[in-house]
This record gives sequence, structure tokens and C-alpha cells, in this order.
Amino acid sequence: MRCRKCGENAVIYISQHNIALCEQHFDDFFLDRVRKAIGKYRLFPKNAHILVAVSGGKDSLAIWDVLNRLGYRADGLHIDLGIGEYSMKSRDITESFASEKGYRLIVVDVRDYLEGFTVPLAAKKLRRATCSLCGLVKRYIMNRVGLEEGYDVLVTGHNMDDEAATLLGNIINWQVGYLTRQKPLLEKRHEKFIPKAKPLIYLTEREVAAYAIIRGINYVEEECPNAHGATSLEYKALLNELERKHPGTKHRFYHTFLGLNLSFDGVDTSRDVKLNSCEICGYPTTERVCAMCRVRERLSRLRGE
Ligand code: AMP
Ligand code: ZN
Ligand code: ZN
Repeated sequence: MRCRKCGENAVIYISQHNIALCEQHFDDFFLDRVRKAIGKYRLFPKNAHILVAVSGGKDSLAIWDVLNRLGYRADGLHIDLGIGEYSMKSRDITESFASEKGYRLIVVDVRDYLEGFTVPLAAKKLRRATCSLCGLVKRYIMNRVGLEEGYDVLVTGHNMDDEAATLLGNIINWQVGYLTRQKPLLEKRHEKFIPKAKPLIYLTEREVAAYAIIRGINYVEEECPNAHGATSLEYKALLNELERKHPGTKHRFYHTFLGLNLSFDGVDTSRDVKLNSCEICGYPTTERVCAMCRVRERLSRLRGE
């Protein structure tokens, strides 16, 4: 296989575009796809102070690497969730990457937000699904730490496969409210809401893995032991099966959806959901007290038992 651009040995074949690329031209392609997402969806300006949520997986380490290479000011935030060996390894890999590159990394221990409990222990105490509690806690910490530390925008490593699988799930279950909010940029809608951006939406999981390997990035390969929503993995597998037979399916499915900018009669969109300030912590919520503060209250009561 030869590179379409220069004829050198190719390192990857991209079926969606029917091109093979060498290391250098794949790198150009990758950076271009990130620039495209930032430009098309006006994710953030050149001088923005960016906080990247870094899990230690390939996606978030790759986007942290790319944003710095493109000249952005991008620091990292890692949340130690206390999920046994998996979290220890994730934290270790993220910290090593940061110190190797000389990037600023903020590490937050989830126990500081969960009355001393780790995510799995808190979920058990509350008799609640681990993944849903984990998602809630991560979103809360990302938003709060991003604002407290004075950042303009929070970046996550969601790639095209993640977004296409989420879209499929939202359609299968007709989660119309989620559909209107599934965007590459969530804008500021409350004084204590940090904008959230996804610059990897033009790159597939496979392309991100190739980038990480070519750049010599050491990342956590394991999935979270809590299986992280087995259905979302099934949706990914289904879409990959379609993609294999019909290259370009994933891209069409997700990016056509974004282009349509759908709205649904009678459904609150991201713009008109009313956000209050939590009576306890002041962060945005649709209720009186936010879900995080309710969790903390229950945990502090349960701790005595
Ligand atoms: P996930 O929900 O695990 O698919 O992760 C989606 C994105 O959330 C990742 O690409 C990261 O940007 C961010 N993220 C997930 N877990 C963590 C973590 N423990 N610390 C910081 N960011 C995280
Ligand atoms: Zn080439
Ligand atoms: Zn609150």
C-alpha cells in the first residue's frame, strides 16, 4: 500500500475516503480533521484557555496532544474515580504523560466530592447503577473545576464512533430531549456552566488509535470494568458492521444529523430548558437542589449506618 499523496509506504487505509496515507500525511490528515471541527462549529477561539478532561484513554490523551501541537493553551483534568486497579492505572498513565510533556494537570479525587466514598462504593450504598452515578459525578466535577480554575471551555475526547453510537441509542429509545442536546458544542446557558466541546467528531476510533500509536502515546487500553453500558458497545459494533459493508455510513449517519439541526414540537431544546442555581452549591440544575448535592446528602446520612 502506497500513500496517495507522496507514494511512500502507507501506514493506514481509510476506507471512508478510499485513501492510504503514510505517517506524515496521516498526521496532516488528523490535524486537519481537528481544525475542521473547531472551525465549523466555532468550538473555541485561538486564545481560549482550555481544560481537557483526560481519562488516560487514547481519545482524551490524543486530543490533549493535538491541541498543544496546534498552539492552544490546553491543560488537563483527571478525575480519580476510585475504581480499583483500573483507576490507579488510568491516573498513573495520565500523570506520566503530563510530566513527560510538561503539561499542567489537575487531579481530583472523587472521594472529596462523595463524602469519602469511591464511585463503586457510593453506588453500592445508594443502590444505584455505577455508570449512571459515575457519569453524574464526572459531569459535575468537570464543570465545577473548569469554572473554579478559570477556564473558558472544557474539551472531552468523544470521537465519531462514540457520537454515532450515542445517536443510535437516542433514536432507538426516542430520547428526543437528548437528541436536541447532542451537539459538538454545548454553549454557556448559566453563569456557572462551562461550554463543552468535542473536537474529535470527524475522527473514528480507529483513526484515533492509529494516531496514539504513531505518536508513541502510552494509553489505557482496557474498558472500565463496570462494562460502561454494554449496549453502547453493541451499537458501536453494529455501526462498524455497516461501515465495513458500506464505507461512510457512520459519517453520514452522524454528520447528516448535525446538519439537519432538528427540533421537535413541544420538546425543550438546549436553549429553552430553564436552569436554576442549586440552593446548596450554586451550580446549574433544573430542580431546586442539584443531583450531586442530593447524592452527597444521602451519602452523609448513610455513612453513619
Ligand atoms: P466516557 O464517558 O468514559 O466514554 O468518556 C468520555 C470522555 O470523558 C473522555 O474522552 C474524557 O474526555 C472524559 N473522561 C472520562 N473519564 C474521565 C476521567 N476519569 N477523568 C477525566 N476525564 C474523563
Ligand atoms: Zn505520504
Ligand atoms: Zn448542588
